[in-house]
Amino acid sequence: MNTLTPILNPLTLPRGAVLKNRLVMAPMTTCTGFYDGTVTRELVDYYRVRAGTLGAVIVECCFIDNLGPAFPGAIAIDSDNKIPGLARIAEAIKSRGSKAILQIYHGGRMVEPELIGGRTPVAPSAIAAPREGATTPRALTGDEVDMMITKFGDAVNRAIKAGFDGVEIHGANTYLIQQFYSPHSNRREDQWGGSRENRARFPLAVLEITHKMAARFASADFIIGYRFSPEELEVPGIRFDDTLYLLEKLAERGLDYVHFSVGQLLRSSIVEHQDPTPLIEKYLAQRSPTLAKVPTIGVGGVVNKSDAELGLAHGYDLVAIGKACIAYPDWADRIINNQTLELFIDSTQREALTIPEPLWRFSLVDAMIRDTSTSGRKYKPGVFQEKVEAEALKLKINVTLDTDRITDIALEQDDSLDVDFTTTFDTLRNRMLVANSPYVDAITGATTQSEALKKAVSRALATSSKAQVIEEGGNPEAPQQYDVVVIGSGGAGLAAAIEACDDGARVVIVEKMATIGGNTIKASVGMNAAETRFQKLKGIHDSKTAFYDETLKGGKFKNNPVLLKEFVELAPAAIDWLADHHIVLDDITITGGMGTDRTHRPADRSAVGGFLISGLVKNLNNRNIDVMLDTSVAEILSENGAVCGVKVVNEYNDSRILLAKSVIVATGGFSANREMVVKYRPELDGFVTTNHKGATGSGIGLLQRLGAGTVDMQEIQIHPTVEQTTSYLISESIRGGGAILVSQAGQRFFNEMETRDKVSAQIIALPEKSAWIIFDDQVRRNNKAADEYIAKGFVEQADTPEALAVKLNMDQNALLATLARYNQFVAQQHDDDFGRQTALRHPLNEGPFYAIRIAPGVHHTMGGVTINPDTAVLNADGEVIPGAWAAGEVTGGIHGANRIGGNAIADIIIFGILAGRHAAAYARR
Ligand code: ADP
Repeated sequence: MNTLTPILNPLTLPRGAVLKNRLVMAPMTTCTGFYDGTVTRELVDYYRVRAGTLGAVIVECCFIDNLGPAFPGAIAIDSDNKIPGLARIAEAIKSRGSKAILQIYHGGRMVEPELIGGRTPVAPSAIAAPREGATTPRALTGDEVDMMITKFGDAVNRAIKAGFDGVEIHGANTYLIQQFYSPHSNRREDQWGGSRENRARFPLAVLEITHKMAARFASADFIIGYRFSPEELEVPGIRFDDTLYLLEKLAERGLDYVHFSVGQLLRSSIVEHQDPTPLIEKYLAQRSPTLAKVPTIGVGGVVNKSDAELGLAHGYDLVAIGKACIAYPDWADRIINNQTLELFIDSTQREALTIPEPLWRFSLVDAMIRDTSTSGRKYKPGVFQEKVEAEALKLKINVTLDTDRITDIALEQDDSLDVDFTTTFDTLRNRMLVANSPYVDAITGATTQSEALKKAVSRALATSSKAQVIEEGGNPEAPQQYDVVVIGSGGAGLAAAIEACDDGARVVIVEKMATIGGNTIKASVGMNAAETRFQKLKGIHDSKTAFYDETLKGGKFKNNPVLLKEFVELAPAAIDWLADHHIVLDDITITGGMGTDRTHRPADRSAVGGFLISGLVKNLNNRNIDVMLDTSVAEILSENGAVCGVKVVNEYNDSRILLAKSVIVATGGFSANREMVVKYRPELDGFVTTNHKGATGSGIGLLQRLGAGTVDMQEIQIHPTVEQTTSYLISESIRGGGAILVSQAGQRFFNEMETRDKVSAQIIALPEKSAWIIFDDQVRRNNKAADEYIAKGFVEQADTPEALAVKLNMDQNALLATLARYNQFVAQQHDDDFGRQTALRHPLNEGPFYAIRIAPGVHHTMGGVTINPDTAVLNADGEVIPGAWAAGEVTGGIHGANRIGGNAIADIIIFGILAGRHAAAYARR
């Protein structure tokens, strides 16, 4: 045995089990269980290949009760039928020579109702977790608490039967056991709540029953571990001295180890920011001799041998390895052989590394994936300070860079910062470090602050890149050479950039706004496509011909037939392209003007725009594609009639030339340019727009200066359902989900599922020029967007239709009669009044009832520059302008006189991919 490094020394645990070394695989969520928590074959293989040289593998947390799963794909130990699957994991690990330990838990109030069939989660008290959108749980009764302890006991018994060498009681991550100990989540007044002593009863009872089960059914050295989060941010909340109190009590009863649940081995307090002492140091200094007999596991940031040795040197007895074990199944062998490892995964190696599909898509892993064929920009190493300013927030951050990556982002000491902000900062910092990019999802509820932080980091990167160019003797102002410049970072631009990069081109994206996503990020309903594999899986029979015909009819037969044919033909492949890029749109609904369910959206039915942009940005980050934010293209340059680059201007008015043979214009439409809208449609003066500020149509002008032709410029779509005080669009998915439109007189007035132009015209023709969109709780439950509207305060709501009518100042009898008549149409699946044929989903009869006042707003500009089916921009004579490509709303022709809901996302993805492909091929000829 190699005794030169302490990490390979064996350790005998207090109850007698011997670990052959100090290395254990950390329990990590893989989301790879079946829908009911049964173990999958992929999961068994995943654990098998990782076991062997490690002393032990702690298998991911397993929920003990059917109200306990805290995330999709969680595995279960809630009934005896789960034993055989778990036994296969235990066997796989043990047969390779590592100890197999199973973590057991209950999510308590951290469980989302969707994961438990819409039921209300349970917790010590009916107090929601302090996070946006958290459900208020139901408090367990005294009997139920007793039962819960028994269920933990049953789970231990099953783990023993499955052949595990031990269990780890999951008392961390704000799950149920921690919830009992926390003064925030536990406000009980019985023996389980109140004093610290009482709150400690539940974890102690779980430990007690674990001992009982082990004594009865397992060998004497059955391992019993306990995982804990040393502190929580909640006020009141668990503080470090509370944790020590509990651990002392647990140790008195008997434990084989305690497992710190922290992000970094040497992490200091998350509550007492001024105290930099690592928690492990405090723990070692303060623990009693009894607790000192219990080994400790440290976790967080262990990638190389030196990290593991550092952990032991700081007093941990064992170190747990997380992400590095995912990236390197033979991690322990590699570090024993003194390999130096980097934490990334080659994008082509999923199967070779035995990483299950769901885990591959999990954000932490996703962020490690790199396309090794491309190289990113180079930075000058050092610390770069930037200001962050957002509303009342003014602070400085220090961004530390190595030659090719961000190594740290730190806040300058500032005592005025509150806990909420530092938590936001910590989470965002983590996301940026993991992605090695400032382009990560903003923190919900702190979007402005997130964007300001992201921008500051992005500025630091630009400054450092510039410094590096100077250091290398270059001129940072000199023209920069690319193969493809993409203008605009909406869906079309991002899809184009990714495809062009994958086809071997050097790509840069130029975006005039401070954030990525364009108007696409606001898209709600989904992406239309016919004859897709997801439709087939759901048994939906559809045909491309029907899709073509209905789009043509919706577009009043003005659509360019060649482009439309291409659009319809390529739509299923575009759905697959997205899925291959981990953007899966496998739930399907319908929009106005379509005859069947063909609008693809995310499985959780959330708005498609944010989901799409977030997924595309992850793909950008994996490829290290450059993005210039706050930078506008002022001119597309050409030489001898062919495009040769662009002139860009940044927020400080500095201009620069980017040379490229291909320029893809993906600048979106012009709905937010009132002058242009009114020029083509004077009667739309005064209409609000649903679009973001950047939808100014600048790309059309840029291309017109090169001689590009335009088509259908007067075809401007107004969307029928826009909340007028905020210009917020009320998604068509609400009507597609079963809602109806009702006038102030309490009556339906048109087929709600007709095309947008017709519905809008009918609303404008009402005396109030506005209407109410009305739905019930069934519609709300099936549409995440509805909850968003409620949260934004747009929605009137009442338990009965009568009460709703009062709130809307509407005739009660009229509304009741309208609902009764509509419900009858649903029952007979025929709308006698207005001929609605689709989305007669269910009667509107389940309270609460909801209403939103809406009127039309400028939404989409169907017209734009002319392109051929390869996305090459055509001049006024129909000839190709060499090197100029365009995709998305900046182009005209595909939608004719009216765009169907769900066809814009299809347009940008289908033609975005095509533009990227052709532009790359042309530039690299
Ligand atoms: P699409 O749906 O066609 O992808 P989007 O509206 O989502 O279009 O995105 C277009 C993006 O292009 C927006 O983010 C917009 O700010 C950006 N943009 C528009 N004009 C310019 C320009 N001249 N330079 C750089 N970016 C631009």
